[in-house]
Order: sequence, then C-alpha cells, then structure tokens
Amino acid sequence: MKIYNSMTGQKEELNPLHPGQFNIYACGPTVYNYFHIGNARPFIVFDTLRRYLEYRGYKVKFVQNFTDVDDKMIRVANEEGITVGELGDRYIEEYFKDAQALNIRPATVHPKATEHIGDIIALVKKLVDTGHAYELHGDVYFDTQSFPGYGKLSGQDISELEMGARIDINEEKKNPMDFALWKAKKEGEPAWDSPWGPGRPGWHIECSAMSMKYLGDTLDIHGGGQDLKFPHHENEIAQSEAATGKPFANYWMHNGYINIDNKKMSKSEGNFFTVRDILKEFRGPAVRLFMLSAHYRNPINFSRELLTQSETAYDRILNCRENLKFIMEHPKDEPVDIAPAVTSAGEKFNAAMDDDLNTADAIGGIFEYIKEVNTLFENGGRAEDAKAALAELDTLMDVLGILPEADESIPEDVKKMAEERQAARAQKNWAEADRLRDELKARGYELKDTPDGVKINKI
Ligand SMILES: [Zn+2]
Repeated sequence: MKIYNSMTGQKEELNPLHPGQFNIYACGPTVYNYFHIGNARPFIVFDTLRRYLEYRGYKVKFVQNFTDVDDKMIRVANEEGITVGELGDRYIEEYFKDAQALNIRPATVHPKATEHIGDIIALVKKLVDTGHAYELHGDVYFDTQSFPGYGKLSGQDISELEMGARIDINEEKKNPMDFALWKAKKEGEPAWDSPWGPGRPGWHIECSAMSMKYLGDTLDIHGGGQDLKFPHHENEIAQSEAATGKPFANYWMHNGYINIDNKKMSKSEGNFFTVRDILKEFRGPAVRLFMLSAHYRNPINFSRELLTQSETAYDRILNCRENLKFIMEHPKDEPVDIAPAVTSAGEKFNAAMDDDLNTADAIGGIFEYIKEVNTLFENGGRAEDAKAALAELDTLMDVLGILPEADESIPEDVKKMAEERQAARAQKNWAEADRLRDELKARGYELKDTPDGVKINKI
C-alpha cells in the first residue's frame, strides 16, 4: 500500500515498524461541545484506514485522545458553572453516541489529558533538563531554536514563522515561536502540582506524552486534519524528537478541509454544523458515504443537495442487499456465474485503497459491482450464488464502515404488511390491497410484483 506522507510530500510504500502491526495516533476532539462536521472527517478517514489495514491482515493499535483541559474547556465550564471534569465527561459520552451513529469504532485507547498529567510533567521535565525548554514565571516554554528541525513538517522557514508570530506579545520568551509546554495557574483555572508550581499542560504536549506512552517513541502513522499541521503537529515533532532523539512518526497523514456550500465553515458565517444536527436529517451511513466519496486529501464540499444524493446512493446499496436476500429466500435453480464479478470487485477495491486510501475510486468500483450484480440476478438465481454476491458486497462495505444497521433492513412490520397485501389480493380484496400499498408507500416502501413473489424496495 502507498500512502502520501505529508513529511516528504510523496507517496511512499507503507511499511510497519514492527512486522504485522501498525501503531496509529490520531488527534481527537476537545470535548467542550458536540463535534462538528469538520471534526467528523478525520475520525471517519482514520477509522477507515484502520479498518482497511485490518482487512489486509495487520493488527492495528489505534490511539485517539480526548483533550479535556484547555482554554475553551475552561471558558465553557465557567460559563455553565460546572467543573472542567464534568464538562469533559458529558461531551466524551456524547462523542461516543455520534461516533457510533457514523460507525466510527472506539479506538484501542482513548487517553485523556487530565489522566496523564504525570506523564506530561515527566516529559516536560526531561525537556527542561536537556536544555530544550525553560521556565518563565511558572510557565514552561519549548525553545524552538534548540531543535534544528523545527518547521520541517509544514515546510516553513523558522525566520518567516517568527515574523508572523509578532502578535504573540510575550516579550520575555527567548524566541517568538517558543510555545508553552506548561501554563502557570490563573484564577478560576484547574491546576496540578508540578516542579514549576501549580499549573496545567499546554495543548501540544499531551499528544506527544500520550502517543509515546501507548505507541512507543516512534509510531507508524500520525494523522489529523490539515489545520493541525502547523503549529500543533510541528510542535509535537519538536517536543518528541528533542526528548528521544528518534523520529516521532514514520508517516504523517492529513485530511483536507470541509467547505459548507463552497464556503469555509465558521461560526461567524453561521454555517457551522454539528454531527448531532446533521444526523437529525440524514442517516449515519449516508453521511459516512458522503465523507468517503472524496479522496481524503481533497477538500470536500458539504451541502444538503450532496447529502441527499448520498442518501439515494446508500439506498442503492440497501436495495441490492435486499434483492440478494430475497433471492436467497426464493431461489431458482438457475446458476449465475458470480465468481468473476466477485474477484474483480475485490481486486479493484484493493487497488484503489492501496493507492493512498482512494475511497472515492473504491466506492466507484462498488457501485459498478452493484450494477453488475443487479443485472446478473435480474431473473433470480440460486441461493448460494446470491449469498456469495452479498458476502463480497458486505465485506467491502464493512471495510468502509458503511454496512447498514440491523434496523435499516426492511422492518418486520413492513414485511408483515406486504404479506397481508398479498393475502388481500389472493382474496380479491382490491380495496384493502390498495390501502396497504398506499400505507407502505407513505412509509417509504414500494412493492414490486415479480414472478417469484413480491419484492419490497425502499423508495
Ligand atoms: Zn494532537
């Protein structure tokens, strides 16, 4: 498999440090609110990467943190008159609800910053002791001049960065780009004891401390949104590599932005959507299908129209599954040569995913397969052939995490109504048959008479 490594700017062969296993760290949410549609993209992308590597036979250790103490957490907790801990607990719980609706699997470990203060202090102390960090009135700053590789991920020249950092008014710092590893306690803020007095960690240090704790000094893949490249990931590299003298991550992956109706998403534009809101209008798998229908490095435009199209596409997958299940229940002794289609679908899928996780092409291939399957089984077929066709479809959809929830197949009461309609027709009770047909239509189902029985399709 090849992956575009943001560090080198090239597609590279993806090889794990330890044979048969990939260690992946992805930056998680700050838990002061429901997560928004822009946050959802990296969660879905890296969950899909994890699923694909597992499908290809690797073990994957996947760590995604919760930032549960920072300026935003403190501000919101104070506004609501609750503790930062209470705020964090609430939105961590809500994170798992939305993640589940988008079929994002829980990480192997979801470390919280506040539960790793000891690890964070130990790392900061190491940086101070080795001359890479210095104390200033109870704050501790990383000395960017002490790390020659600073700027290597974002490809920025440190002197240019310094020019841009003039807005940072702390004149006492050694260099304008130096960033806080530890922040001295201010009034109304939660604090922990440290060698530099009471305080709390800066944001960047938690990812270095928790990543190295769970995945070792060098991990395989570090992922996150493009907006985290600088300064967050640049700072993670500086802290980690200054402390260990080893490369922090072998591959860096960054997903592109989400625009809303072709505009940048922002609170001030009023086009800011939480996943919780989106899920009131659209089904989780359809939202996930939409996200994966673009290559992860490309920007993606989010609009109701595109999501509606995604809903329709998702229904095509469901209808194909229902047709195959129907054939399995009403088989005919007519062989369908499904093996070549199955083999070719698997090969196309792997080729697309091996090329820098090209889910857009992978999904295109799945829809070609669906079209082929629909044609091959137009006149029904044997149960074993339909089963083989369905198994391949489900395997590939499961890698993308777009397999329907159990309740998204045809509900039992809808099946029962369809049977009642058949009974009414058999008794020539046309009024009742029409009434049931209309009621099913109102619920979004359409009945199609075929020589083999009645098929139920979602409209
Ligand atoms: Zn991070």
